[in-house]
Amino acid sequence: MALDIRKILDNPGVVSFEETFNWEPSEVIGATAWNSLPYAKGTVTHKPSGFSLAATLSICGQFTCDHCGATFRQAGIFPLAAVLTDELEDTDNPDYYLITSGELDISEILRSEYVLQEPTTILCPTCDE
Ligand SMILES: [Zn+2]
Repeated sequence: MALDIRKILDNPGVVSFEETFNWEPSEVIGATAWNSLPYAKGTVTHKPSGFSLAATLSICGQFTCDHCGATFRQAGIFPLAAVLTDELEDTDNPDYYLITSGELDISEILRSEYVLQEPTTILCPTCDE
């Protein structure tokens, strides 16, 4: 699932996307099943200052509590943003995603950004009080 961004590679502009991601629940901390597949809507923008990605990710699934082991439903909407670059010298900076071609793996970028935001301990509403 790659987004075609060729039209903004050399010129400023915006490419919008709306995608459903077939992520394995095991790729997201604590998730055991999806009630609906993760879904995101957003844009990739090329400005004179550089490339950026902004999206809203919707997650709705079954999670397992780290503390009591209960399975619970968790749903949320997460604003995500990423900085992209097509310049190789920036690759040492982990905050940047490298654009290697006219196609962008939106799924991988958003999953990485979501996992970075996600707490490392998943607690059900009862244990989280
Ligand atoms: Zn719990």
